[in-house]
Amino acid sequence: MKFADLGLSDELLQSVTDAGYDTPTAIQAQAIPSVLMMRDIIGIAQTGTGKTASFVLPMIDILAHGRRRALMPRSLILEPTRELAAQVAENFEKYGKNHDLKMALLIGGVQMGDQVKALSDGVDVLIATPGRLMDLFERGKILLTGCELLVIDEADRMLDMGFIPDIETICSRLPTTRQTLLFSATMPPVIKKLADKFLSNPKYIEVARPASNNSNIAQHKIHVSTRGKREALRHLLRTDNVGTAIIFANRKTTVRELAKSLQQSGFSAGEIHGDMDQNARNAELQKFKDGVISILVASDVAARGLDVKGVSHVFNYDTPWHPDDYVHRIGRTGRAGATGRAFTFVTSEDAEAIANVEKLTGMKIPVFTLEGGEPEAAAPAEKREQAPRAERAPRGERAPRRERAPKAAAPVDEIEVSPELAETPAREAAPVRAPRARRDEPRPPKDVLTELPSQPGEWNGPVPGFLSVSAL
Ligand code: AMP
Repeated sequence: MKFADLGLSDELLQSVTDAGYDTPTAIQAQAIPSVLMMRDIIGIAQTGTGKTASFVLPMIDILAHGRRRALMPRSLILEPTRELAAQVAENFEKYGKNHDLKMALLIGGVQMGDQVKALSDGVDVLIATPGRLMDLFERGKILLTGCELLVIDEADRMLDMGFIPDIETICSRLPTTRQTLLFSATMPPVIKKLADKFLSNPKYIEVARPASNNSNIAQHKIHVSTRGKREALRHLLRTDNVGTAIIFANRKTTVRELAKSLQQSGFSAGEIHGDMDQNARNAELQKFKDGVISILVASDVAARGLDVKGVSHVFNYDTPWHPDDYVHRIGRTGRAGATGRAFTFVTSEDAEAIANVEKLTGMKIPVFTLEGGEPEAAAPAEKREQAPRAERAPRGERAPRRERAPKAAAPVDEIEVSPELAETPAREAAPVRAPRARRDEPRPPKDVLTELPSQPGEWNGPVPGFLSVSAL
């Protein structure tokens, strides 16, 4: 199947080609023709499946016909976080470059006045987080009665963030004749109920989880003691043909300490976690992108947001507490047809966590045995003679006796500092469901707040340059 078979306009096909894509992903192939036929859709798909283009592309063609009206957006896309909203806006910019469409981004952390001005000029697409939209709506600054197409993206995350009541209110203010597209990685009962109430005869599309079913990723677990982790990691970094790697830890303190320790061992490592403000995170990501650093030690807040091509390895320095995080983490490698390797360190305390991961992914992760057993935690570099039994490394290429930095970083092809960096209720702490959110600033559980930027009201993240809301 090619994009040309999906019924999209020639102008749109041109921008898809320019973006470098010729074959639609599963969700795109199944959703695009139905959206063009004005059907409601329930798409069970995670990020990484190409789901954004599955609604952005047909929307552009649908909106190509019609007229903008002041204060009345013609279509509405609801996103749980500012950065996801910005990423969707970037998709519109990329694919809509041959169309005369106007959009506005309605998110917290951007001046309200600018957003109102953009709306009063009339927009074809409004991309919003529910809280800010409700604020404007309640002030009478926006009319939803002209909105014929609604997208509810990442519905299960909206639920986690307490946005469902807002979404219900918003849905009830839109024309009942509208077309509704709902995307969610999972289908908990509340979302099912929402879909039953607000969608009409939807087409149900479910696509495979991108990472766990991705045969491009060789997954391994390694049994280690807590004390032996650092040495085991260094050992693998030196011997497993590592180009660029993301190393995940469950706690911010571990991220910081590990990055420091790797630097002291001569590795070119950086860090990203929720105690850093958005500018610092962006700067560190840029270094990773440019190949200035080849290793990024990260907390889960980064796992969900990063769209990076060219990462050869993912290390789960800690087995993630939540199995979903495993899928998100390892999905940072093996992207866009490339191959990747994912190693998960498992201590005796992680038995339940790894069992949950294997239950979710439906596969037993093969055990990878470090040859000669676990390296000594405190052993000096010179003592480490044995390389791991890496399937890919021929004997002659095993670890040299002397410590050496990992292979120079191949520049990462692409990095989109994307969703979730700022507002994902990351799980560095105990698993607690977020309570009902206050408007645009979802209030995650107290212990999760530590993972959010220090000033959650201020967003320093990337805002696409074209955005009329901030440009005005
Ligand atoms: P998404 O699931 O929308 O977050 O998309 C994940 C990644 O897949 C993004 O980097 C997209 O640019 C990329 N992508 C979208 N559509 C395609 C396609 N048809 N072929 C290859 N990559 C794609």
